[in-house]
Amino acid sequence: MSFSQQVLAWFDQHGRKDLPWQQDVNAYRVWISEIMLQQTQVTTVIPYFERFMERFPTVIELAEAPIDDVLHLWTGLGYYARARNLHKAAQVIARDHDGVFPTDIEQVIALPGIGRSTAGAVLSIAEKQAHAILDGNVKRVLARYFAVDGWPGNQKIANQLWEYADSVLPQERNNHYTQAMMDLGATLCTRSKPACEHCPIQTGCLAFAQGRQAELPGKKPKKELPVKATFMLVPFVRGSILLKQRPATGIWGGLWGFYEFPDAEALHEHITSTYKANAAESIQELMSFRHTFSHFHLDITPVLLQLPELPQHSVAEEGTQWFDLQQPVNVGLAAPTKRILDSLKTDL
Ligand code: SF4
Repeated sequence: MSFSQQVLAWFDQHGRKDLPWQQDVNAYRVWISEIMLQQTQVTTVIPYFERFMERFPTVIELAEAPIDDVLHLWTGLGYYARARNLHKAAQVIARDHDGVFPTDIEQVIALPGIGRSTAGAVLSIAEKQAHAILDGNVKRVLARYFAVDGWPGNQKIANQLWEYADSVLPQERNNHYTQAMMDLGATLCTRSKPACEHCPIQTGCLAFAQGRQAELPGKKPKKELPVKATFMLVPFVRGSILLKQRPATGIWGGLWGFYEFPDAEALHEHITSTYKANAAESIQELMSFRHTFSHFHLDITPVLLQLPELPQHSVAEEGTQWFDLQQPVNVGLAAPTKRILDSLKTDL
């Protein structure tokens, strides 16, 4: 039996056939279900789908509805761009396609919010056209079956998977085949612990033969983040700590934090010139810690400067303020600032 024959035989026995969008099948209903299912589990989608169909039984009703009504019925599903795109696409269909969901794949892909895989799913399920799909589940099945290394989010790998998807496409029962592939990925070829013992395509599966199910498909490569360092000056005088508001733009924009220095030398120079302090007696380097941003690590070394009094003639710089360490601070604090303050509250 060929790949698709094995998949279809399994579908006849085990595939899901009673989902609401599998009844009264038409392109509009399949489209709505596919969009709802993009980031959401089947069981969550079912009541949303039913309410949506009751309120917008046709594409025209969806196109004519106020966007607020559409968003209201989407509330709780998340990723609201999906609902906005559905509404926009419905208006395009009403205007440019006489209110009939197009059956030409290029016209479907041209609609807002519909990519190649969703277009293929709608036209194969609703119109029985022969189009491959490549959603997350199917990517996993094919990457394992053909032992395709690399991360499917990479265009080159995705292209390879599209080629494989096309190569195993049946010429009939495409509606069932598409549904079967999605089901296979969702129920058997799961991310962790795939149920290979029940899988209809196990005999040809390279990942199974090579015992590589856990490593395929390849993970998104982790980028090595650069590491930067900063020294934060924590002046502590008569129970108060000096904070400074950060510029409105940039990291921690508008929040309050400590004076920062790129190295210990610059920090010591500042202490000598501003506080006239005898460094060795008053300064204590605290435990360094790492704060990670999406694009770099920041190694932070807080340096505590304890003084009995402020030096005479010291002028408070604009945008700075002394805060009583034991009182709640009612300004926005950057996360590391809060961490340092919390630890000092117990230590000082
Ligand atoms: S044999 Fe296992 S790894 Fe291969 S496709 Fe089937 S469930 Fe996935």
